[in-house]
Amino acid sequence: MSKIYAGVDLGGTSFIAVVANRKGRVLGSAGNTTTPGAEPQATIQQIGDCIVEAAKEASLLPSHIRAIGIGAPGAVDLKRGIVVRAPNLGWSDVPLASTLRKRLGPDVVLGNDVQVAILGEHAYGAARGTKRAVGIWVGTGIGGGLIARGRIDRGFRGAAGEIGHMLIKEDGPVCSCGRRGCVEALASRTAIERDVRASETESAALRIMKERNKDRMTSSVIERALKENDPVMTEVMARAQHYLGLLAGNVVNLFDPEMIVIGGGIAQRLKEAFVAPIAEVARSRFLRPDPEKRVQIVHARLGDHSGALGACALARQMT
Ligand SMILES: [Zn+2]
Repeated sequence: MSKIYAGVDLGGTSFIAVVANRKGRVLGSAGNTTTPGAEPQATIQQIGDCIVEAAKEASLLPSHIRAIGIGAPGAVDLKRGIVVRAPNLGWSDVPLASTLRKRLGPDVVLGNDVQVAILGEHAYGAARGTKRAVGIWVGTGIGGGLIARGRIDRGFRGAAGEIGHMLIKEDGPVCSCGRRGCVEALASRTAIERDVRASETESAALRIMKERNKDRMTSSVIERALKENDPVMTEVMARAQHYLGLLAGNVVNLFDPEMIVIGGGIAQRLKEAFVAPIAEVARSRFLRPDPEKRVQIVHARLGDHSGALGACALARQMT
């Protein structure tokens, strides 16, 4: 049987499919944007087309693929292969796995996008070789996942890893979950944008957004504003990093992992400049200091293909 896997990183507005060998070397890739408001069946058709295209680039047929993994932006039912709820796609109860399997042949395994990205870092990236690692993904929200003995630990009800909703400041701002003071409401890209916009002094980030015709404060806008030494962004970012440091400190005290991997758009752009202040705050919170067996706090390394490669790792693990 072949050792070739396909992985799909399915996002709210676009997706990317890769075909890779078991070591995570990308042999072919293809991507597309999703049409807003499209029927799920039409999007699944597009995904199937891209897997075929990626295989073709690798000089393979879909039948050469051992299994297909897909990271979906929302809640999935692993056993039934169903995307239960993906608000960004407008999907609920979509039988993604069976539809693709009928068309292409190989088994299809689903996972949540953040957990899949963390699995990718464990299989092929920063956390390779660790037995116990925690991923913290900072984007529109904050997601996470615990890797124990090389696998994602999903918890008793499959609900583990909701790191973004750890309470950090009881009277803090309202979170997407409706509660107050979750770290997601204090340190996600959405929270950073809210705080920058609320500042009395106008941030350079707003000018950069206008210049680039963007209505969202993307990670690249944040990076640019920091490069320009924008005082508002510098202050807001330092505060977000402080809260992420408290989160990472709590995580270490609870799970004692070998490594914390910090990923997502901002980490991908700022790398060590993002992670170092977080690590410093986290270390100040460790109940057990770690001069010898050091807990590593690092940024994710897989870059643009992280989600799709993680989906390959998921496929590899489940088959
Ligand atoms: Zn919350």
